[in-house]
Parts: sequence; C-alpha cells; structure tokens
Amino acid sequence: MKQKILTLQTLYREGQIQLKDSGIEEYQLDAWYLLEYVTGISKASYYGDPNRELSAAQAEEYRKCIEKRSERIPLQHITGVQEFMGHEFFVNEHVLIPRQDTEILVEHALDKVEDGKKVLDMCTGSGCILLSILKRYQVQGTGADISSEALQVAERNRKHLALPQVEWLQSDLFEKIEEKYDVIVSNPPYIQTGVIESLQEEVRLHDPYIALDGKEDGLYFYRRIIEDAKAYLEDGGWLLFEIGYDQGAAVSELMRAAGYRDVECVKDFAGLDRVVSGTLYSSDIEKMNRINEDKIRKD
Ligand code: GLN
Repeated sequence: MKQKILTLQTLYREGQIQLKDSGIEEYQLDAWYLLEYVTGISKASYYGDPNRELSAAQAEEYRKCIEKRSERIPLQHITGVQEFMGHEFFVNEHVLIPRQDTEILVEHALDKVEDGKKVLDMCTGSGCILLSILKRYQVQGTGADISSEALQVAERNRKHLALPQVEWLQSDLFEKIEEKYDVIVSNPPYIQTGVIESLQEEVRLHDPYIALDGKEDGLYFYRRIIEDAKAYLEDGGWLLFEIGYDQGAAVSELMRAAGYRDVECVKDFAGLDRVVSGTLYSSDIEKMNRINEDKIRKD
C-alpha cells in the first residue's frame, strides 16, 4: 500500500485543523510552535520548502503533541519551556507558567535594584522573577516557595541560565526567612477561590492550584506579606507585588495602612492595574506605633 507522503505543510495544516476543531483559540500559533518544537525548523526554512518530507517518527511525535494540546494541556507543558524577559525557563506542573504580565513587575523591580543589593522573591515558583533580576544585576538573591518541587524547577532554571548561586528556601511565606532585604518582590496567588472554576481549562487544571488560590477575597497573601515583610525589609526597602487588574486600590490601601509610603500602582500594556509598590521606613512605623499607643491610652 502506498503511504501518503507527510510533508511539513500537510502536517502543519492537519495540526491547525485539529486544534481549531478542539476549540483552541490560538490554533495557528500553537500548531506552529509544536511543529517548531518537534522538527526544530524555523519559519524561514519552512517557507523555503514547505513540501519537505517528515520522518515517520517526527510525524507521529507531532500528532501526539497536537493530541495533547487538543486535550487542553498547555503548550508550555508539552514543550516544557516558556520564554520570559527574553530568557528560556523550564516549567512543569509544579510551577505557574510565567506570564507576560509579570514582566511589568520585573521591569519595575529593576528600577529599585542595584548591584550589591539583597533581593527576596516570595512565592518564587519557576524563579522567573528573581532569575530575570539576576540576569541584569549582581545581587544576593533568595527565592522562597512552599513547594520543594517548585524550587527544584527554579534551581534547574538558574543552572540553565548560567547564573550565580541563589538561596532557595522552602518556606511557608516568611516562616524560614531570617535576614533583611533591600527589595522584596512577589507575585503571590491572587485569584479569588470562587473565580478559579471559571478560568480556562489550561489554567484551572494545569497550573498548580496553590499558585492561583488567593482565598476568599483574593487578598489573603497580600495581607500576610505586607504585614510580615515589615520585619524583613531594610530601612527604606521596597516591597513590590504583581496584582490582579481589580486589586490596585485594595492592595495600595493595605500597604498605606501598614505604614508603607510612596505607594504606587503601575499599569500594564493593556492599561490595567498590574503592580503595586511601596517603601518602608522604620521612622514611619515608630511614628505609627506611637500614635496607636496614644490612641489606646486615651480610649
Ligand atoms: N513567581 C512565579 C511567577 O511569577 C510564581 C507565582 C505564583 O506561583 N503565584 O510566575
């Protein structure tokens, strides 16, 4: 029996159709990325010779990848990588896939960091935030996460990016933190529990649940980190968060009420609130405490 010749173009078309039929919104892009992943081909060489034949093994592998993607397994869990800040990060089911929105947080943090500073990334996951900062500055970096599996991914990424040692701490928030930092940066879980079930399947079923769940009102981790970070920030140190588009006012207010100053909310490219930052001075905290004590004495 004569077998149908499998060219790059036939497979690519077949992949697009299958993904489209499965309701994958970015079916063209995803079918392309998977072709690139399986064959290592570039766009230029594809268009140079779209009728090049694929080996049976490659064709089979491509079809398997397309099948997985049709089942709504995220592209990044199939290819194992995601680009972030221009660097390649390994990902798996133990870490949140780095989002482009988070680059805004990194950019903003880079404004506060200088060589020689101490930086803590709370809820580091894949390590994408801290490692991107380390690509730019020679800082002493600590990444904390409750998940040891996540920290393994983060360390693998550090090695892959040929970066200097980082202190990875398996810690429930500040539980194991002992030192003080010039900059604390965090993209904590911030989705309201009730909203998680309405998220797309790729996120809801494949990103780690603990990386998403910000408890009832989505602000649980902001409250805890804002309060606890006070003991771990150097005088005049900065705390910076990624936030959900509708959390700018609430998180800014939490920071001001806790004694942080110069609280600023930064928007993303879509014009939505995305980052909140503020700085902490011990003199402000002492003043606040004195006012509170006076109030208690008067009451
Ligand atoms: N810091 C990681 C990131 O930004 C993980 C965040 C998380 O798990 N909530 O991608």
